[in-house]
Amino acid sequence: MKSNNTFRIALFPGDGIGAEITEPTRLLLDEVAAKVGGFGFDWAPCEAGAAYYRKHGTALPDHSIRTAREADAILLAAMGLPDVRQADGREMTPQIDLRFEFGLYAGVRPVKPIPGVRAILADPRAHDIDYVIIRESIEGLFAPYAPGTRDGDGEARETMVITRPVCEKLFDFAFKLAQERGGEKKVTSVDKANVFQAFAFWREIFYERAKGFDGVAADHAYVDAFAMTMVQKPWTIDVAVTENMFGDILSDLGAALMGGMGYAPSADIGDEHAVFQPCHGSAPDIAGKGLANPTAMILSAAMMLDWLGAKHGSREAGVAASAMRRAVDEAFGGGQLVTCELGGKAGTEAVFAAVRETLARVDA
Ligand code: ATP
Repeated sequence: MKSNNTFRIALFPGDGIGAEITEPTRLLLDEVAAKVGGFGFDWAPCEAGAAYYRKHGTALPDHSIRTAREADAILLAAMGLPDVRQADGREMTPQIDLRFEFGLYAGVRPVKPIPGVRAILADPRAHDIDYVIIRESIEGLFAPYAPGTRDGDGEARETMVITRPVCEKLFDFAFKLAQERGGEKKVTSVDKANVFQAFAFWREIFYERAKGFDGVAADHAYVDAFAMTMVQKPWTIDVAVTENMFGDILSDLGAALMGGMGYAPSADIGDEHAVFQPCHGSAPDIAGKGLANPTAMILSAAMMLDWLGAKHGSREAGVAASAMRRAVDEAFGGGQLVTCELGGKAGTEAVFAAVRETLARVDA
C-alpha cells in the first residue's frame, strides 16, 4: 500500500459479462472510499482471458501477472469462453492459473441469502442460512503439477493430490474463520474418507489441526450426505472445508440457495495475495444483453475491502465493506428489486443504480 492509504488494485474484467459488471463496481468502490474517507484506490487494469488468448495466443500474459503480483489485491470479474479451447478440448482458465501462481489455497465462498431476494427453499429457516464453504484451491483434483493424462482412445486419468503443508494452512484458516465470524464455531470436514486414501489422510490432518483451536467444534461429513444437508437443513452449517473439486460443485449449490450465480461472491486467499471474484463464470449466454446480476461482484468487492482492512489495519476499509453490504441488503430488502436471473426486470444497470442510491444514504 502506498503511504497515502491508497490501495493498488489489479482489475481483470476478463470475458463475457465481466466488463459489464467491472466498471460499475469500480465506481461503487471509488464512491464508498470517498464516502468513508481515509483511503482510496489506484486502479491497474489487467488483460487476460479467452478473448485475449484468441488475439495473442496466451490467456494470462506475464505483464498482467506482474501487475497482479505488485498490487495490494486482485479484483476479477469472469474469465473463459466455451468456444475458445485448447487442443485437448479444455477451456482457458486463467482465473484458476492465478490461484496456482499466487498460492491462493483458501477459496472462501459465503452462503448467505440476501433478505428480500426470493428464497429458494420454502422452509422459513432458509432466512437463517449463513455459512461459509472453504474450497481448497491449489491442489486436490486440480493440482497443476499432476496434470491429467490420456492414452489414445483407451484411457484418461486425473490425479487427486492432498499434501500436508497445504492442508495444515487450509484447516487453520477454516478454524480461525469459525472462531472469528460469530457463528456456531464449528468446522465440518467435507470429504470421502471412507473410500479414498487421500481423504483419509486429509481427515487425519483435519482433526490434528482442530486440537489447536479451543472453543471451535470439529466434525465431518461425507460429501454426498453433505450435499443433502445443504438442501435439507443448511441452517445447521457454520464453516465447511472441502477439496477443490467438491468445493467447485458445492459452491454452485450454495449459490443456488442464494438465488443464483449472480448472488454468490468469493475470495481466493493465500499468505500474501488474494483474488476477489464472483463465483459465476463469464455467462456468454447473457453477455452484452444488460441482464447480468452484478450483486456477486459487488459483494466480492466488499470481501476485498474486508481483507485489505484486516491486512493493513485500515479500519476505514472495514467500515466501507460493511456499508457496501448494507447498501446491497437495503436495495433488495423491500423485495421490489427482482433480477432477471429470478424472472424479474432488474438488469445490470437497475441493480447498480439501486445499490448506488442506497450506498449514498446508508450510515458509514
Ligand atoms: P464457469 O465454468 O466458468 O464457472 P459456467 O459456464 O459453469 O462458468 P456460468 O458462466 O457461471 O457458468 O453461468 C451458469 C449459468 O448462470 C448461465 O445460465 C448464466 O447465464 C447464469 N449466470 C451466471 N452468472 C450470472 C449473473 N451474474 N447474472 C445472471 N445470470 C448469471
